[in-house]
Amino acid sequence: MASVDKHHFDITIIGAGVIGLAVAEELSRRFKDVLLLEKNESHGQETSSRNSEVIHAGIYYPEGSLKASLCVEGRKLLYETCEKRDIPFRRTGKLIVATKPEEEEALEALLGKAQLNGVDDLLLLSGRVVHSLEPEVFASAGLLSPSTGIIDSHRLMRALLIGASDNGVTSVFRSCVTAAHYDGDRHEIEINDGESRIASRVVINSAGLQSDRVAAMPGIDVDLEGYRLKLCKGDYFSASPSPRIRHLVYPVPMPKHEGLGVHATIDLGGRVRFGPDAEYVDDIDYRVDEGKRDTFLGSILTYLPLLAKDSLSPDMCGIRPKLQGPGEDIRDFVISEESRLGLPGWVNLVGIESPGLTACMAIAKHVSNLVQQIMG
Ligand SMILES: Cc1cc2nc3c(=O)[nH]c(=O)nc-3n(C[C@H](O)[C@H](O)[C@H](O)COP(=O)(O)OP(=O)(O)OC[C@H]3O[C@@H](n4cnc5c(N)ncnc54)[C@H](O)[C@@H]3O)c2cc1C
Repeated sequence: MASVDKHHFDITIIGAGVIGLAVAEELSRRFKDVLLLEKNESHGQETSSRNSEVIHAGIYYPEGSLKASLCVEGRKLLYETCEKRDIPFRRTGKLIVATKPEEEEALEALLGKAQLNGVDDLLLLSGRVVHSLEPEVFASAGLLSPSTGIIDSHRLMRALLIGASDNGVTSVFRSCVTAAHYDGDRHEIEINDGESRIASRVVINSAGLQSDRVAAMPGIDVDLEGYRLKLCKGDYFSASPSPRIRHLVYPVPMPKHEGLGVHATIDLGGRVRFGPDAEYVDDIDYRVDEGKRDTFLGSILTYLPLLAKDSLSPDMCGIRPKLQGPGEDIRDFVISEESRLGLPGWVNLVGIESPGLTACMAIAKHVSNLVQQIMG
């Protein structure tokens, strides 16, 4: 493992989740002197390995938002990357199903929203057609998204890390950034409470669930800037025997999109998992609450009425780094170079919840363009 024996870098990236890794690889194509710091002993041990691994089409997000544009661009880039670099993926397609008449209107609204976002391949289906595609699914109508798929996120992250390393990025693990200070020329970064220090012209904060705390380190008032994260947990249950479905199946989303509703995803091994739900929590605790079984079952039975009541077992969970608090309106990704706050070269990525995995390659390009402007 590399150590930080050199004390000056042009660019330092904090956090080796899928976002930090994609940014590291992308920056390493243009710039020579890039450092990637990760507090854990390996990459991708937090939110990037605790998600549904769905390549989203870009249906749900407000028109003109970064979530919408980076999801649509990122989805295309991700499929290309998978094909070129032999990363396992499958274009499963996805069905969003209405189970009562009020929800059919919501499907039409989603179709319109998706079109504004440039997602032009959705098909509105009758309940009969949904039934012919998925005999076990109950629906009065459905929206088919053919370009939704699934990916092996672990293989993606490994490929990004290898790509970055091959291009000369120095990756250092067990290195928690504990303080930062701008001296008017460079950002001084303290690692592991003073065990080492480095200086960097550019800093990319891609610290996921800790990105608000890292943003506060050089003196940003995260409450004033609206960067304070709220943790929103999503539990999953798996089903055995698995329902026989070929598409991902989603209910109509919650009104304020805290989550997309308890949906059925399929992994590349064909296993069906249900979730995630959305529960705001105070702490990071990755235990799945078994007591939610009946609530999960209630949601799932609306669209998969044949699911056996005793087939669900607790599976895994993830925690969303959300800017949107309970009952609040949807918030966009923050991707911001902070010259306006007197911190030139400091780039914050905060609130990178779903569709962050789908958007990672597009986020990386966006960040690379910001860095190009700083480096001149
Ligand atoms: C339940 C759930 C389901 C989801 N499903 C999907 C989906 O199907 N499709 C999709 O596109 N997106 C999905 N997402 C979103 C996606 O998982 C995230 O957007 C993405 O993983 C964020 O990656 P990241 O690199 O920003 O964060 P992380 O993976 O959390 O990485 C951040 C890294 O920073 C490190 N770090 C933190 N603080 C420090 C520090 N001080 N010093 C050094 N290192 C530090 C952490 O250890 C961590 O490794 C889902 C998210 C959740 C929670």
